[in-house]
Amino acid sequence: MLANGLTTYECWDLKKVSIPSRSRLYQLEPVGIGTSLVESLTGYISRLAEAHCVTPKVLISRELVSFIPKTYRTTNLFEMRSLTGALNGLGTMAFDLVTVLESMTLRSDLRFLTLLTWANIFPQRKLLRSRRAWCPYCYEEWYSSKDKVIYEPLIWFFEAVTVCHCHNKSLCQQCLHCKRDIPPLASYSRPGYCPYCLEWLGVTADYPSSDNTPLSKEEIMWQTWVIKTLGELLATTPRLSKPLQREIVAQAFCRYVEQFAEGNTAAFARMLEIPKNKVWMWQMGKVLPELNVILKICFTLQVSVLDFLTQETLKENSSKFPATPQNQVKDSSTKKLEVKFDSDRTQQLLENVLQANEQPLPMTAVAKRLGYPKRVLYRHFPELCRAISAEYVKYMKESRVKRIEQCCEEVKQAVRQFHTEGIYPSEAAISKLLAKPGCFRDKQVRAALRAARKEISLEP
Ligand SMILES: [Zn+2]
Ligand SMILES: [Zn+2]
Repeated sequence: MLANGLTTYECWDLKKVSIPSRSRLYQLEPVGIGTSLVESLTGYISRLAEAHCVTPKVLISRELVSFIPKTYRTTNLFEMRSLTGALNGLGTMAFDLVTVLESMTLRSDLRFLTLLTWANIFPQRKLLRSRRAWCPYCYEEWYSSKDKVIYEPLIWFFEAVTVCHCHNKSLCQQCLHCKRDIPPLASYSRPGYCPYCLEWLGVTADYPSSDNTPLSKEEIMWQTWVIKTLGELLATTPRLSKPLQREIVAQAFCRYVEQFAEGNTAAFARMLEIPKNKVWMWQMGKVLPELNVILKICFTLQVSVLDFLTQETLKENSSKFPATPQNQVKDSSTKKLEVKFDSDRTQQLLENVLQANEQPLPMTAVAKRLGYPKRVLYRHFPELCRAISAEYVKYMKESRVKRIEQCCEEVKQAVRQFHTEGIYPSEAAISKLLAKPGCFRDKQVRAALRAARKEISLEP
């Protein structure tokens, strides 16, 4: 064979191809990580079970249970119905399940479907509810839009959230068909369906709802704020480099006491209408305030919960946070009140309050009406505020005098009436007749009684 007749064949690479490791369960992608509407872990388990064409009971008992620590293995997870809410929370149950699921799906982001990142910050009490709450209108919209996944957002599990921010309607907490409460995870859980009667939980806007009471303006305003601030927390969770440390709560209180009350804890507590020793305990880091307390404080201070807690952390880690509209809001953070404080307008409004021909108001009510903390108003316009307060004190004194005079007159007439009817005018008998029965606590009214009895010679 001649050498020039040889064929050159292609080269074979005989190196072993590296095959990525396989996950035991589907690597189902969670919905909405990094957004305010991130999925909940219990909802994810229901969807994961559905993807495998089994029920959550089968998925857990056949695949997961042997990896869950012995403490839960002896107990059937579904018998602890109310406890399944803890799976979305910040305790060991959530941690153990996340660890097992992350290893079986080879995902590293399932912890963001729980509140584990906030484990050192919020106490468990009154944090998440132990039964499901959902917006039936959202379910129906997702169902008819076809390209949307039907899932259970984590934000619906917060006790503080009672309204759907898209529809401004109360969240449902009972199946419309079988009228039962639904636990976060049940044997036959399926996103959007009741695990007991297996009926669809969504309804259209024209469905005759059992709860037709419209929400008040204040309730909608409060809920809109709660949902916005909690949504911001959930959206930021994946961007935090590590779980936040407990000390930041105490540091936050110290910072705000300094800023709003020049370091005076008692004045700060008065402004928030909270007992002083509670604020002191939080400042010292001895106790953590519950989420609903933090929400109320932040609402009063006009600062988001995230700004309140993490201002320092975010500044330290600012390079880790991409510029998003949310972060731009953060930059103004605690100085917000000072920056946005409209001095001229506020002065005009305070002068209007002083000159108005209405019933005088206490400064707490004026501050609420103007939307600024009382402390801020006093700092900017001490004389105006003191004048408003003095007007109120004067008005209260005058109304007290008027009230007592009226009581004395009523007592006098009652004594005469009893006398003509031949009844002894005792304090108890007269009290029953008066518009304000407690008025005998005042010595002037008791004196009026004695004088009236004297007039009809019943008293020396
Ligand atoms: Zn909705
Ligand atoms: Zn049902």
